Amino acid sequence: MLPLLPHAFAGLPEEFYTRQIWEGFEHPFIAFENFSLKQELGIQDIDGEDLLKIFNGTEILQPLKPLSMIYSGHQFGQYVEQLGDGRGLLLGQIDSIDGAIDLHLKGAGKTPYSRFGDGRAVLRSVIREYVCGEAMHALSIPSSRALMIVGSNEMVIREKSESAAMLARTAKTHIRFGSFEYFHYNNQPENVKALADFCIDQYPAYFTKTPKAYEDFFQVVVERTASMIAQWQACGFNHGVMNTDNMSILGETFDYGPYGFMEDYDPSYVCNHSDHQGRYAYKNQPYIGLWNCSALGHALSSLISEKSQGEILQSYEVTFQHTLAELYRKKLGLEQKQSEDAILIQGLLDIMESEKLDYTNTFRNLTQALSREATPELNSDIAKSWIASFQDRHEKEVLSQEKTVTLMNQVNPKFILRNYMAQEAIDAAEDSKFSKLETLITVLTQPFQELEEYNHFANKSPAWAQHLEISCSS
Ligand code: AMP
Ligand code: MG
Repeated sequence: MLPLLPHAFAGLPEEFYTRQIWEGFEHPFIAFENFSLKQELGIQDIDGEDLLKIFNGTEILQPLKPLSMIYSGHQFGQYVEQLGDGRGLLLGQIDSIDGAIDLHLKGAGKTPYSRFGDGRAVLRSVIREYVCGEAMHALSIPSSRALMIVGSNEMVIREKSESAAMLARTAKTHIRFGSFEYFHYNNQPENVKALADFCIDQYPAYFTKTPKAYEDFFQVVVERTASMIAQWQACGFNHGVMNTDNMSILGETFDYGPYGFMEDYDPSYVCNHSDHQGRYAYKNQPYIGLWNCSALGHALSSLISEKSQGEILQSYEVTFQHTLAELYRKKLGLEQKQSEDAILIQGLLDIMESEKLDYTNTFRNLTQALSREATPELNSDIAKSWIASFQDRHEKEVLSQEKTVTLMNQVNPKFILRNYMAQEAIDAAEDSKFSKLETLITVLTQPFQELEEYNHFANKSPAWAQHLEISCSS
């Protein structure tokens, strides 16, 4: 039996959600099952077919109180009064070996928050969410993850007709910045307080009940957000839709849509082709993270003075800069902290930008530059002078070269999720062939290994995929 409990969120007043029974598919099947996540949650003995019955609603688990959550949020800078789970619901909490984990079902049919949507998700977007959650987790970046993809023979209309599917998703929380904004902008300070109290109570690993509990709560959210975004920057990840309703209060990467991992280093990279202004470009993510935190601060105005909010927000940049500097230092194989390191890393990024070098592969290949041979990619005159500085800098290090190489290979992935890889797995899955998806998961869950038989996954995208357009439609 799945150790699934009613979600504590169901204990909040009714203004916070709508109780929801969902519509499964007539002919559901397991399109993909995440065996390693099952293992990590301690539910490996539960048969996939039994999980499928639960997720498809074929077997209603008593006494679950599934619900769709209400929230609002700032989308592309504009406040949108009411969003909410328009096609998802919170099934409950898995009582896992790591404590309670949210179980959410995406694509589960219409809810009172569906607006003009059909409440469904397409197989394409569900696969994209699945593979990216696994890729991020393997890179040690906090992320929601998926336990299962429920396939169907039902079709839904997007730009074209596509297969519908559901995603059973796990996350530490589904409370978003927008959850607070909803109550703030609807003039319900008592519910802003109730939600903050709920978070402080439910997530003791993150928040504490101190006399300044709300300030401390906000401080933790700000720091976790800054740290998450520093990790995105270091691995070249572009989220694409950093609306406040897609920001988890526990700093987990969340609500994957038209995301992308940057290939050639380009700070202006925008993965979302619907984002014409480039608001959510790679280089803007750190500022948008701060903007979103200040939107959350504003939503907490009834609990935290403006002065305290300002002070707390100042810590965002400190955490972000510190975390990113540490991550880059590790990527360069530097254990000691030296004041000139920032110049060294910026020098490398400048070369990557002007020579259009692949971000992931340049870092991965840097180990070759340790032994005074230019890497195949870094071969211009400027690059040679940079390599000389890199080698001089390494003279000040104490670790052996061998040890440095090992450490660098543990932080510079060989394999990242290039959009075309997901696309190939999707094309096959739409044709009921799931082995490409399986291979992709095998590679992305071991990003730091050599896996020589999969070398082709470390290549830059083929020409046909260089301009693959990824839109918001999902
Ligand atoms: P997202 O872009 O997935 O973060 O979704 C933004 C908002 O639109 C959320 O309130 C979603 O629940 C809602 N939404 C997105 N797609 C659909 C759909 N197909 N049906 C109903 N609501 C949707
Ligand atoms: Mg969303």
